[in-house]
Amino acid sequence: MKTDILIIGQGLAGSCLSWQLFQQGASFSVIDRPFLSASSRVAAGIMNPLVFRYLTLSWRAVQNMTSSKDFYQKMEKALQTKFLHEITIAKIYSETDIELWGRKALMTGIHQFTDGKVNYPFSSEDVNYTFGAGIVNKSAWVDTAMLVQKLREFLLRNALLSEEIFDRENLVIREDSIHYKNITAKKIIFCEGFRVSENPLFNFIPFRPVKGELLTVRIKGFNTQMVLNKDIFLLPLGNEIYRLGSTYDWDDLTEEPTKNAKNYLLEKLKSLINFPVEILNHEAGIRPAVADRRPVAGRHPAYSNVFILNGLGAKGVMLAPYGTEQLLRLLNENITVDPEIDPSRFVRK
Ligand SMILES: Cc1cc2nc3c(=O)[nH]c(=O)nc-3n(C[C@H](O)[C@H](O)[C@H](O)COP(=O)(O)OP(=O)(O)OC[C@H]3O[C@@H](n4cnc5c(N)ncnc54)[C@H](O)[C@@H]3O)c2cc1C
Repeated sequence: MKTDILIIGQGLAGSCLSWQLFQQGASFSVIDRPFLSASSRVAAGIMNPLVFRYLTLSWRAVQNMTSSKDFYQKMEKALQTKFLHEITIAKIYSETDIELWGRKALMTGIHQFTDGKVNYPFSSEDVNYTFGAGIVNKSAWVDTAMLVQKLREFLLRNALLSEEIFDRENLVIREDSIHYKNITAKKIIFCEGFRVSENPLFNFIPFRPVKGELLTVRIKGFNTQMVLNKDIFLLPLGNEIYRLGSTYDWDDLTEEPTKNAKNYLLEKLKSLINFPVEILNHEAGIRPAVADRRPVAGRHPAYSNVFILNGLGAKGVMLAPYGTEQLLRLLNENITVDPEIDPSRFVRK
C-alpha cells in the first residue's frame, strides 16, 4: 500500500492531525492500537486559560482558547456530534488567593477571562468556602473520549485506520521514503502519547510522563453548572453526575487506578461540599508531558521525513489544534514551526 503520510497513534494528537489532513484532501493512513495508552480516553478535557497557582495565563492561552474552540466546533459540525461544552470555572479562594486575584486578575490578558471580584455563587450550606470564589469565564471542556471514538469510526469507515500495534522493529527509514511492512509512505508522524518513551528515535526529548486519576461520581441533591476548583476539580456532566479529578504522580507509570488516589480525591471533595458521594467509575491515564512544559511538534533533527506531535501534557485540549496547525504549515509550506515547540530545541548546538 502506498500513502503520503503514515500516522502512528490516534489519541487526541493523532485525531486532530488526521482530521485536518482529511479536510485538506491529503493521502494518509493511521495505525493505532487503542488502550496502549488511555490518556485521551480518560481526560476531563477542561480548557482553563489560567494557571491558578500563580494566577498567570496558560501558555498562549489568549490565542489558543479561541482557535481551539473554533477547531473543535468545525469538527463537531462535520461529525454531527457535540463534544465541546462552554463552562464557567469557580476557583474557590484560599485566604491568600484574595490578595493574589485582587493584584493580578485585571492584568492584560487575564482580564479577558475574569474580573477578579470575590463571588459567592453557591449556598454556604452546600459548599464550604469562607473566602469566596474567582469566576473564570469563556472556558470549555471537550469530551475527548467521544471525539476520539467518533473520529475512529470515521477513519475506519473511510479505510484510513488500521487497528494494530506498530512494531518499531519493522520500520525502515530511507532518505526519500518510509517502509513499514507492506506500507510505503513519504513521511511518518509519531503521535504515540506517553508510549513515545519506548521510541528510540525521540529519546533526546526529556519526556516527563505523569499519571493522573479521575473518578466519575453521583452527588445526589447537589446541582451546579460550574466547575468547582480547589486543589481538585469537580466537572458537572448533568443529572447530578460529575467528574472528580485529578491526581499527579511521576513515579507510578502504570495505568492502574489506585486506592491512594481515590482516597485523596474523596478527601479533598469532602472538605469542599456537604453531600454524600457515590462512585460510579475510577480511571487512570498517563499524560505525555515534557520537562519544559511545552508540546513538541515538528521534524526530527536527523531524518527529514520523520515528524512528531506529542508532549501535550495536562493541557492537551488547548494545545492539540495549535500543534496540528504548526505541523501542517511545516509539511505543506515548509514554514518553520514555533521554536518553543520544535523538537530541535533539545538538540545541543
Ligand atoms: C486523569 C487525566 C486528566 C486529564 N485532564 C485533562 C484536562 O482536563 N484537560 C486537558 O487538556 N488535558 C487533560 N489531560 C491530558 C490529555 O489527556 C492529554 O494531553 C492528551 O489526551 C494526550 O493525547 P495524545 O494523543 O498525545 O496521547 P494518547 O491519548 O496517549 O494517545 C496515544 C495513542 O497512540 C496509541 N499508540 C501508542 N503507541 C502505539 C503503538 N506502538 N502502536 C499502535 N498504537 C500506539 C495509543 O494506544 C493511543 O491510542 C488529562 C489526562 C489525564 C490522564
